[in-house]
Amino acid sequence: MYYNELCGVKVSALGMGNMRLPVFNDVEKDINREKAQEIIDYAYSHGINYYDTAYRYHGGNSEFFIGEALSKYPRDSWYLASKFPGHMIVKKENGVIGFTSGLAGWPDSTVPKVFEEQLAKCRVDYFDFYLLHNVNEKSVAMYYDEELGIVNHLLEEKKAGRIRHLGFSTHGTAETIDKFLTRFEGVFEFVQIQLNYLDWKLQDAKSKVEVIAKHGLKIVVMEGIRGGRLASLPEAEAAKLAARRPGDSAARWALRWLQSLPEVAVVLSGMTTLDQIIDNVETFAEPNPVNEEEKKLLFEVADAMLSWVPCTACRYCTEGCPMQLEIPKIIAAYNGVKNGDMMASYSLADCDPSMDPTRCVGCGACTGICPQNIPIPDIMKEFGEMLKK
Ligand code: SF4
Ligand code: SF4
Repeated sequence: MYYNELCGVKVSALGMGNMRLPVFNDVEKDINREKAQEIIDYAYSHGINYYDTAYRYHGGNSEFFIGEALSKYPRDSWYLASKFPGHMIVKKENGVIGFTSGLAGWPDSTVPKVFEEQLAKCRVDYFDFYLLHNVNEKSVAMYYDEELGIVNHLLEEKKAGRIRHLGFSTHGTAETIDKFLTRFEGVFEFVQIQLNYLDWKLQDAKSKVEVIAKHGLKIVVMEGIRGGRLASLPEAEAAKLAARRPGDSAARWALRWLQSLPEVAVVLSGMTTLDQIIDNVETFAEPNPVNEEEKKLLFEVADAMLSWVPCTACRYCTEGCPMQLEIPKIIAAYNGVKNGDMMASYSLADCDPSMDPTRCVGCGACTGICPQNIPIPDIMKEFGEMLKK
């Protein structure tokens, strides 16, 4: 494992994301602790020292899990990052907050109580890295709200030593990131963004990297393999990469591209299986960034995929769906059918009800939650019509 510097700390270039841990029966909340612990043990014993979680991951159970999983190792040998869920709250009176979207139905709380609860769940006295979760065009109002005082409270926690380094994650535009960093100049020490060779153009990640670098900050990468999508490319695209470097996985190409960016300190990967972590750890044994010619090839691969619906399978949209549709899986099937591969034989006649796009009632409960801004009900409608033909 090689290491980079982030906020004056030596962090592993590969970080362990804890939002895609192995689960039982596809139920997000039901973490398979035995298998997940094996992954954490592998990560720790192979030099990974950066562990990322959030209040809402795995229906709130990711914090419980990672706190327990790391507790067997000395506290000063790993760094833990968690996030405040300001993108999923509503403001009530007297500093009380309610929850929405993926946290809908959770009991009301307050900013200090949420932070306290997170420390307890993670079994720690302090967070090494703490982030505002998903600062974007919608959530930014909550983070700016002085009465609610989220940022001020976190600065107090930092003064008290319970946060070592404060940052934020974002799916917002480069303009929003720039405005936010300008308004809070000197407050935030790092930024976590979705970054990979497909989003360089698709989500204008290039501009986001430039803005963050302009403010002198380092980047923690999320969705470096785009929820696994860049690990299993369409056949034709995979063949182009295999011809160039036989034996290298598509995931390794995506990670080596990230290694070529000097602004990046940590690349998070939400690893679900031992095979994935073994491959990723090998990729980060030492820096081996793609060269200019390989970059060109990756951008050609990306160009061929620009028409795909850019779902990362984060599952933010699934919890509120009254029809319990497996939205990310349906979108994966939609991409496959539209592009003539993967599940091209998808048929309504034999699909599970949770995979049937025609069951979407267009209620809009998923609209606005998606960090990728995917018009989910429109896709359900279009896909349903395609399949009826
Ligand atoms: S619009 Fe359709 S997919 Fe979205 S939450 Fe409602 S039923 Fe589910
Ligand atoms: S549709 Fe959007 S919210 Fe739902 S899983 Fe895909 S990226 Fe996540």
